[in-house]
Amino acid sequence: MFNGRNIKVAARTHQVPIPKREVAERIRSFNEVALGYSLADAIAEANRCLQCKVPRCVEGCPVNIDIPAFIRLIRESKFDEALEKIREKNSLPAICGRVCPQEDQCMGKCVLGIKGEPVNIGALERFVADQENKEKRKKKTMPSTGKRVAIIGSGPAGLTAAAELAKMGHDVTIFEALHAPGGVLMYGIPEFRLPKDIVRDEVKYVESLGVKIETNVIVGKVIKLGELMKNGFDAVFVGSGAGLPMFLGIPGENLSGIYSANEFLIRVNLMRAYRFPEYSTPIKVGKKVVVIGGGNVAMDAARCALRLGGDVTVVYRRTEELMPARRDEVINAKEEGIKFVFLANPVRFIGNEKGWVKAVECVRMELGKPDESGRMRPFAVPGSEFLVDADTVVVAIGQNPNPLAVRGETHVKVTSHGTIVANPETGETDMPGVFAGGDIVTDNATVISAMAGGKKAAYAINEFLMKKSRCN
Ligand code: FAD
Ligand code: SF4
Repeated sequence: MFNGRNIKVAARTHQVPIPKREVAERIRSFNEVALGYSLADAIAEANRCLQCKVPRCVEGCPVNIDIPAFIRLIRESKFDEALEKIREKNSLPAICGRVCPQEDQCMGKCVLGIKGEPVNIGALERFVADQENKEKRKKKTMPSTGKRVAIIGSGPAGLTAAAELAKMGHDVTIFEALHAPGGVLMYGIPEFRLPKDIVRDEVKYVESLGVKIETNVIVGKVIKLGELMKNGFDAVFVGSGAGLPMFLGIPGENLSGIYSANEFLIRVNLMRAYRFPEYSTPIKVGKKVVVIGGGNVAMDAARCALRLGGDVTVVYRRTEELMPARRDEVINAKEEGIKFVFLANPVRFIGNEKGWVKAVECVRMELGKPDESGRMRPFAVPGSEFLVDADTVVVAIGQNPNPLAVRGETHVKVTSHGTIVANPETGETDMPGVFAGGDIVTDNATVISAMAGGKKAAYAINEFLMKKSRCN
């Protein structure tokens, strides 16, 4: 029997669904897939929150946003105040609302998730950020401390460190190697998941706090880190990320038609190859595309290749349940027609007489005992080789850290893998005044963990600078 109480319970159990673009439209364009909440949706979802006295969701947020407080402000239709509340802890809410793995973080801890679906905190964060009237945004000026900080890299770690330090009154300059700021947000994650106007706008917010950005400056090549320190910077934060391609190291990997995910995604996203010849960088995507890997990078590469006309197969060495990609993105990929071959690993690439890839030889895998990551280690089944046709291959098995910025700085320790050794709580390296955070320290991680690294380092840099002032 249905009564008012039942309706209330039903409303509490299920999230307000997020509208998505139709599949038929999605596969032909790079327009954003998830459309975001309407005002009515946002209020309804905000009303599901129990306003817990001890909010587990906040514990799950790496930058500790006061989640119940911003949700309460949505309920009261105080959207600008809700945005301010989020920005107290997070300068990139429109980005995080779209790409953070909330299901493993704040939403993974939400008490409503115990018996039903958690509050959709990510969708609410996105709603609040999207409704801001950007025209009305005012430039903020803080009383100056007279201290100068250089930030290397404009990804989420660098942008967050810069924003926090600017709020504390320091004079901050970001040096970015590429021609556009944003790091992976700009060059890696495709437009259909994270529109580039959104990234540009959140970068503008960071600039509105007084942060200066110099693009096309490769620290370690154009200028050395030590020179920055000699040229009047009192501290440096290195947030240079993990942007070096990783390869499989198997025969045939040099054949034409085989891309690293980095090159493929940079061409498509940053250089807008999907709008060639309007934009000058082309990309060749054949009829049969094989993407190797099971993370977000693999899903992004596969979905880009599909939109560029390819018939796409993803080859992954473990099972679907063990894929590191966000669940929603795997669902989106399947809806769009991407095929998956699980428990398989490439062993060599086979080329045609013109040196172009024509097939990937794979071997079947089985899962053994858990490895150091806690996931079951895959091993090859002898004699189980099989071929998958391919005229384009994208290798998306991860990225390596990029320590070029600290090359030659003997006091900054770098591991054999290329990550910078830094205190996990403060980002301090062995060189006084040099701090590091984000993927360059943790290796491939997430947007929000890179932001948390930038934030912790910003507090430590502030302490370092204030101590330096007291000693002078
Ligand atoms: P980056 O974002 O890599 O930024 C580093 C910046 O430093 C770059 O702009 C680079 O050009 C610059 N730089 C490097 N060296 C120098 C130098 N010597 N001088 C000057 N500048 C330099 N995470 C999620 O949470 N959700 C997702 O959905 C998700 N999807 C992803 C999809 C892809 C395709 C990729 C590649 C990653 C994805 N990630 C995702 C991971 C996430 O994007 C990264 O963990 C995060 O961007 C790391 O931030 P960062 O600031 O440390 O580095
Ligand atoms: Fe609201 Fe869930 Fe956080 Fe409780 S845990 S305050 S229900 S979002």
